[in-house]
Amino acid sequence: AAKSVGGDRWAWFDPIMDQLAAEDATLGAHLTQAIARDELFMLYQPIVELPDGRFAGVEALVRWRHPEHGLISPAVFIPLAERNGYIVELGRWVLQQVVRQAAAWQREYGDHAPAKVSVNISARQLQEPGFAAELAALLDREGVDVRGLVAEVTETAVLGTGAALDAVRALNALGLRVALDDFGTGASSLSLLVDCPVQILKVDKSFVDGVTSASPQAVIVDSLIAITQGLRIEAVAEGVETAEQAERLHRVGYKLAQGFHFARPLPAEDIALILAGQPSVVAT
Ligand code: C2E
Ligand code: MG
Ligand code: MG
Ligand code: MG
Repeated sequence: AAKSVGGDRWAWFDPIMDQLAAEDATLGAHLTQAIARDELFMLYQPIVELPDGRFAGVEALVRWRHPEHGLISPAVFIPLAERNGYIVELGRWVLQQVVRQAAAWQREYGDHAPAKVSVNISARQLQEPGFAAELAALLDREGVDVRGLVAEVTETAVLGTGAALDAVRALNALGLRVALDDFGTGASSLSLLVDCPVQILKVDKSFVDGVTSASPQAVIVDSLIAITQGLRIEAVAEGVETAEQAERLHRVGYKLAQGFHFARPLPAEDIALILAGQPSVVAT
């Protein structure tokens, strides 16, 4: 145990740190096999209009079915992939799946296909040289309109480097729309909204959670709608779990929302049922 404030104080933690690092390395090594072993798959969570819950688009969310541990959350394996560098390959795979899926919906449902398909782009991926050009080539190859795809990036990713900001500008120049994800939770400043050309702001669940009470979160949710209206960008409320939250968000001006109250992330086949005119899949 720790006896002094000196160097050996940290020795006490070493076994735990070693174990964590080893687990990280083991899981990370497994992860780099996940695509080859067909263990990754995509789900799509509806984004809906308020107040009626009408289908407006989807956000693509990746899943990993680990052979021993079962489903592992992207909140765990995405950061892991960012640490071991696999994120670039994983991100490329995700984009390929999502763009192909968008093309398939487009072919099958035409005007009724999801108008917007959002996909999460990690910081590392965004900073990869030629990222925007590669994405443009993929969209072109699959015959998907660039305006149908939304790139979701976090404040932290964009703040990181000039390269990320340049990538956002390049995506814009191609006609893609960019959303700032988890807005308000990163190490951000409002000047990001001045410097970074985004078309959509996703208000984080942590604020939406407090929207029905007299809370600082509710004040922030109200203020953000004023900011987005003034900047003429879209606002999407994330993580809406109750009818009361949806009602309150609509009342203060939110037109778009996403959350378990409307629908969970679903396999593409379930999205197809919604597109085919069975909107009862979206529970209200
Ligand atoms: P995110 O981009 O903010 O995605 C929204 C997350 O909130 C998803 O978690 C979704 O399932 C969850 N969610 C939606 N509505 C509700 C709700 O009403 N209540 C609660 N409790 N949760 C809700 P998920 O799928 O576990 O993803 C977690 C994060 O992992 C994502 O947050 C995103 O940052 C990252 N991620 C997921 N898929 C990808 C991907 O394909 N690429 C990259 N780079 N990151 C991804
Ligand atoms: Mg997202
Ligand atoms: Mg989000
Ligand atoms: Mg979030």
